[in-house]
Amino acid sequence: MHAFLIATLIALQASPTPEPLPETVEGSIERCEMMEYADPEGALRIVEHGLSLDAPRSAAQRGLLLACRAWSQIQLGRLDEARELTLEIEALAGQDGSADDRVGLLIRLSQLHFRGGDGISALETVERAQQLAEAEALVEVLPPILGNIAIYLTEAGQFDAAIAHFERLLAMAEADGTEPGRLVPVRFNLARALMLDGRYGDAIEHLEWLIPAMSDPREAPRQASAMSMLGFALGKLGETERSDDMMARAEALHQQFDNPGELSVLRKDQAELALDRGKLELAERYGREALDLARQIQYERSVLDALSLLVDILEQGGQYEEALALHREFAERKQGLLETSQRSRLNTLEARLGMQQQARELDELRQAAELRELRLAEESFRRRVAWTALIAVVIAAIGLSIWQRANQQRLLRISRTDPLTGLANRRFLTLQMQSQGETVQRGALLLLDLDHFKSINDRYGHDVGDQVLLEVSALIDDLADAHGALCGRWGGEEFALFLPEATDAATESLAEALRSGIDGLEIRNETGEHISVTASLGFAPIRGLQLDSGQEVWEPALKAADLLLYRAKDAGRNCGFGAWPAEGSGAINPLALGEALEAGRFRLIRVPETG
Ligand code: GH3
Ligand code: MG
Ligand code: MG
Repeated sequence: MHAFLIATLIALQASPTPEPLPETVEGSIERCEMMEYADPEGALRIVEHGLSLDAPRSAAQRGLLLACRAWSQIQLGRLDEARELTLEIEALAGQDGSADDRVGLLIRLSQLHFRGGDGISALETVERAQQLAEAEALVEVLPPILGNIAIYLTEAGQFDAAIAHFERLLAMAEADGTEPGRLVPVRFNLARALMLDGRYGDAIEHLEWLIPAMSDPREAPRQASAMSMLGFALGKLGETERSDDMMARAEALHQQFDNPGELSVLRKDQAELALDRGKLELAERYGREALDLARQIQYERSVLDALSLLVDILEQGGQYEEALALHREFAERKQGLLETSQRSRLNTLEARLGMQQQARELDELRQAAELRELRLAEESFRRRVAWTALIAVVIAAIGLSIWQRANQQRLLRISRTDPLTGLANRRFLTLQMQSQGETVQRGALLLLDLDHFKSINDRYGHDVGDQVLLEVSALIDDLADAHGALCGRWGGEEFALFLPEATDAATESLAEALRSGIDGLEIRNETGEHISVTASLGFAPIRGLQLDSGQEVWEPALKAADLLLYRAKDAGRNCGFGAWPAEGSGAINPLALGEALEAGRFRLIRVPETG
């Protein structure tokens, strides 16, 4: 299943190109990305060709070529070399290049971290890609970014969050009219997350859709995986006959493709089902086969899965001596895996720390804060490495679960917050609004966009722009707290606030507090020059607007708030507009807001009142 996962990640990005040797850097990147799976040796040659071309090359393009080299090395089993390269690419990812290339490189880098067993760096890096893609309005890369995040969350055991992401991705694609066939990878990974979460019934629904949809012969290996998942789910729900039938079909397909990795997963699943049914002898036979196959391909996770199940089977059969020996092997291997992932995380942190120290132009305050956090993280990782190396093999499994739990909290926090400002990110705010929106009777949604922010960047530099975003965020966070509102960074220099149960008067007062607070911020650059910052706002009620089918409760309010925000920009900026339904008026379409205001069915509110 894992090999398919990686292939899926890449399939989301690769695109076909014609034959002749590429003459440009762009062409070389595209070509080697296309080849790295099927022909890694050939891809390596294209990388060398791309690097030797006498043409200007951005840091991001160099990074993309190196990423290709790293993937090809992984394909050839040269994992240590790939790990070294990952660090070099990390250093290139923060430098120059077109927005497209930089986002692409961050996605590739996150996949390399993931492949190297460092899920935390993978998630952090893909978050950076998302950030950049949103700031630069590269909407077409957002679905693969979301897909990557969801896959990483699955691997981190955050099944609920992963499932929510996959479902959102499906809804987005369906709303866009994406052809169903292209949704196969998303549905496949969703089904997998549902299986891992034990939601077999829900998984079955997707799998029954998937299997016939994978009728293309090239899809057959994945189709076989879907079949074995379905067989397992059916077995877990007690549908023995259909389960056995599905497993047999999956097995026949796997054997046809001589795929020991997938066959090992299948045998392990068959062993578990046999164990569930109390068929110990059969379970033992399947379990041993699963282990042999996993050892044959040297895929550590499959070896671990098979070992752990076989220990259970042998224990139930009273074969304690062998169970103990296998359990010892399990604990040792798990410890090794843990240390490898910690080592790559440590390397990444060290590389980032080095880069950070070189970036002298970075605003002092921000640098101090980030370095402190990185150092803390680094120290605690070092301590953990030292600690886990000391503990006895027998209790390694306990230490591991503690380590994982601590990291899950971190992963969850990272997946929810915007890395620059620390506010909730758009995804998390959306999830919160979705869960609270259903029950609100009143309330409002407010959008805030900084005025002429581009010229702040142009005039004082991007770092000062970042500092402004930080200070504005802190103010928004405080005011939102004081008014019982949720807030988040919606993208770039735009923020959203959700005010459950707020009245028109309460919303108006928060809007004015935000406007005047931002206008009054005392921000200076390093030469002491005052930087003037203002914002424009739009706000609209959660109820009173027409809700189309398939829309979330807050979506019409977002549309209306957006229109009103533009009205504020037109009115000269540094002001806000809101609209509120007049007594007894029915729900209106947000696009007809202008007419409703004219007809007096909605009331226009302006902050400040006069201006
Ligand atoms: P308007 O008043 O019409 O909103 O003008 P504007 O310049 O604020 O709007 P525009 O959308 O043209 O520019 C937004 C700029 O915000 C462009 C983008 O480079 C910048 N930006 C987005 N995210 C970040 C960030 O994280 N840091 C910095 N420094 N700038 C950012
Ligand atoms: Mg703006
Ligand atoms: Mg904007």
